[in-house]
Amino acid sequence: MNERLAELYSLASEIWDLERASGLLSWDEETHMPPGGAAARAEQKATLQRLAHERWVSDRLAGLLEDLEPVEQQLEHDSDEASLIRVMRRDHQKARRVPAELHAEIVREGSLGYQAWLEARVREDFSILLPRLERNLELRRAYIECFGPQDDPYDVLLDDYEPGMKTSDIDPVFAQLKRALVPMIAAVAEADPVDDSCLRGSFPVDAQRRFSLWAMECWGYDPDSWRLDKTVHPFATSFSTSDIRLTTRFQEEHLGGVLACLHEFGHGLYERQVSPSLERTPLASGVSAALHESQSRMWENLVGRSLSAWRFLYPRLQHELSAQFGEVPLETFHRAINKVQPSLIRVEADEVTYNLHIILRYELEREMLSGELALPDLPAAFDAKMKDYLGLDPPDLVHGVLQDAHWSDLGFGYFPTYTLGNVISVQIWERARADLGDLDEQFEQGEFRPLREWLGEELHRHGRKFTARETVERAAGGPIDPGPYLAYLERKLNDLFGAAVTA
Ligand code: ZN
Repeated sequence: MNERLAELYSLASEIWDLERASGLLSWDEETHMPPGGAAARAEQKATLQRLAHERWVSDRLAGLLEDLEPVEQQLEHDSDEASLIRVMRRDHQKARRVPAELHAEIVREGSLGYQAWLEARVREDFSILLPRLERNLELRRAYIECFGPQDDPYDVLLDDYEPGMKTSDIDPVFAQLKRALVPMIAAVAEADPVDDSCLRGSFPVDAQRRFSLWAMECWGYDPDSWRLDKTVHPFATSFSTSDIRLTTRFQEEHLGGVLACLHEFGHGLYERQVSPSLERTPLASGVSAALHESQSRMWENLVGRSLSAWRFLYPRLQHELSAQFGEVPLETFHRAINKVQPSLIRVEADEVTYNLHIILRYELEREMLSGELALPDLPAAFDAKMKDYLGLDPPDLVHGVLQDAHWSDLGFGYFPTYTLGNVISVQIWERARADLGDLDEQFEQGEFRPLREWLGEELHRHGRKFTARETVERAAGGPIDPGPYLAYLERKLNDLFGAAVTA
């Protein structure tokens, strides 16, 4: 290997090790650390992140990337080496554009904003958050300015989560979704609600955990490379392609922790199936928030809420939780876990209504950024959109504008990735079905390997080698298109309610 290229690999591994070590500290913080560790842990993480950041902006990296330009010309675009040079150049240039003081202030304001959000929720008082939000927006605008003139300033924020994606890619997708979903959901609100009473009761936590591990092992979880731990807000992370950490929260009263496992499994599998040739480089993880979410939603919803998968899984659930499900027919359970009904809280929303929660937040954050919406008017604007899109009146701020932390800690630009993930998941799913034949028949037999391996081949193995946009086109066979997703939702509503809702 070219000597300079070997040096780049060495620096890449150093950065990777620092970042993953910091990630491990975060994982521990949210799973095992006693509360007394918080202050020291914040310092430890900051130190590791600083060391990584110094390497990203270093002259050493700049020199290597410059020297490697002629080498890059000779390499195949798709090769690991060319991809590493390309992606590290991109990350390096982005990191260099933001002055260290601004970067530090954004981090600091993020945690102040988050604390203000917690307090505003407890006291149900938006004015506690307002000055922090004003400051957050100023900082976001300063951040955008670091990148020079833009077609749309929001592009800069989006790029942090969806490399290469533009606001102009999203707008038509969301417009089409909104046109179709608003009337669909208005009709759902009129229909008789689906009976989901079998999902309420008492579900022993040990049995939920045993069932979840068993189900995930059927899908591809293997204890040599995966772990499942307890946390407050479920998430997945990884420290190498053979060290995948899932977290969940099982609660006695409902099966939310089981469904969280099925969701986090999809995130974990993406990381697990990144090509080992990318290990210990910044390429060894999922490419973007939306692509990641497409994988978690696929396993949670397209596999994990399908009748065919439950034909295989349900007998085991009935066995583990016989007092609750022993007498409940499979079809009743299946309808219950697919219930659709407008509700106030985004994170508890069903597959269909979820997207309108996202679209309204996307619209509001763009209006805040452009100045079109003055921040003191945000709570009223939020409620007005809830009424327009979902037909609901939030009774208080906690069930309204204060339900999410994203804006308080500067997470502007993140919301759209959730719905993009839903849309992309069905595009990829349709391609998998075309290639793999009757997936339902396979799932009924407990056969999940063909889907898993297909995803590895078509998507997961590439890691971060290509931009989010290129990766979607490779995996989905074309640009983002809400058509297949809307058709899927229509089929779902038809099954649940009959033609009345989907007309
Ligand atoms: Zn997720």
